[in-house]
Amino acid sequence: MHSKIEQEKLYGAHNYEPIPVVLTQGSGVLVWDEEKNVYIDMMSAYSAVSHGHCHPKLVKILQDQAEKLAVVSRAFYSNNLADFLQKICEVTGFEKALPMNSGAEGVETALKAARKWAYTKKGIAENKAEIIVCEGNFHGRTIAIIGMSSEAQYRDGFGPFPAGFKIIPYNDPSQLEQAITPNTAAFLVEPLQGEAGIIVPDAGYLAKCAEICRRHNVLLICDEIQTGMGRTGKFLASEHDNVKPDAVILGKALGGGLLPISVFLTKKEVMDVFTPGDHGSTFGGNPLAAAVGKAAIEVLFEENLIAHSKELGDYFLAALKKIKSPLIDEVRGKGLLIGLAINPSYYTAREICLRLLKKGVLTKETHHTVIRLAPPLIIKKEQIDQVVGIIKEVLTEAVIK
Ligand SMILES: *Cc1c(COP(=O)(O)O)cnc(C)c1O
Repeated sequence: MHSKIEQEKLYGAHNYEPIPVVLTQGSGVLVWDEEKNVYIDMMSAYSAVSHGHCHPKLVKILQDQAEKLAVVSRAFYSNNLADFLQKICEVTGFEKALPMNSGAEGVETALKAARKWAYTKKGIAENKAEIIVCEGNFHGRTIAIIGMSSEAQYRDGFGPFPAGFKIIPYNDPSQLEQAITPNTAAFLVEPLQGEAGIIVPDAGYLAKCAEICRRHNVLLICDEIQTGMGRTGKFLASEHDNVKPDAVILGKALGGGLLPISVFLTKKEVMDVFTPGDHGSTFGGNPLAAAVGKAAIEVLFEENLIAHSKELGDYFLAALKKIKSPLIDEVRGKGLLIGLAINPSYYTAREICLRLLKKGVLTKETHHTVIRLAPPLIIKKEQIDQVVGIIKEVLTEAVIK
């Protein structure tokens, strides 16, 4: 066993089970380990590295800003936060943005905004506001967020949890209609469930939910932390259904693969519930993050990465669907967010990931049976061909064994 792995196990908490490779360098779609072996990164840090590793323009902006001013807290104004907020609002069509760091903080911000909106604007009685979420959801790891999870392992041993959440089945608008009461503040949903195993709902699901929410004066909040920033072939995945949610949370790729940056976006009527002292974050919206976040959005457009994600995603999905193997249960996804479901009677998804690792392809299982294929959006067609070839090889060898 590798010494860095042993050392990390010795001094670190065992809250992850990483694929056994020690990475030391990255550039674009490629990463290298300590022995200088090269790998194609098909994980891109759960979509946080959509721009590719160490994108030169983003690194330059990070360096320049780090030499000028990095962190001031929100006790003062800084000269580039306004530009970042304006940019993200213009690109998404929202009126207001509130910057945070991790995705989970962005989700917590959304929950707080929805509740306060319910009390001050919708007229729900104090402490009665309900928020509806879906089975299989993943919105992060704070106590409130795991409290609304349907995943036993995420919750076990961490209660008690805050009240006020209701879980309904995903991909069934009639369940939403039935679950709404006069106390419902919001419906929080992923347009495509990532951590649940790349679950793509029926076309029109989100549009139906939006119509139901509008009719009941319930906020539709889309968690686009993983699906946003072009990952599924549109800037926001909710665009596939022509839906304009009342609020959206972005994170992951918003940090350009360099920093944790998240943002809660909504209309003025909702954002205005926050008054000074209601909410905050020491690092949220810091000058370094503002500079990198703005540039991360610009690079998506400059390099045409959103259309590229759609084109290569369609190409990749079609190529994977052509593979004939008893080990594949299903291939599904949108844009460059693809799940390869492995038949569990043969192998776990992790066993296949370990075989891919040996052939220079990095990825990670989700939920024991699904292999996530979500490369940086800058990936080239030839690299996809190479990965498809390696997947075929691995599946063939695995069958023979
Ligand atoms: C990753 C993720 C989060 C949590 O983001 P963190 O930065 O890990 O806190 C929330 N929602 C979705 C859909 C995610 O994929």
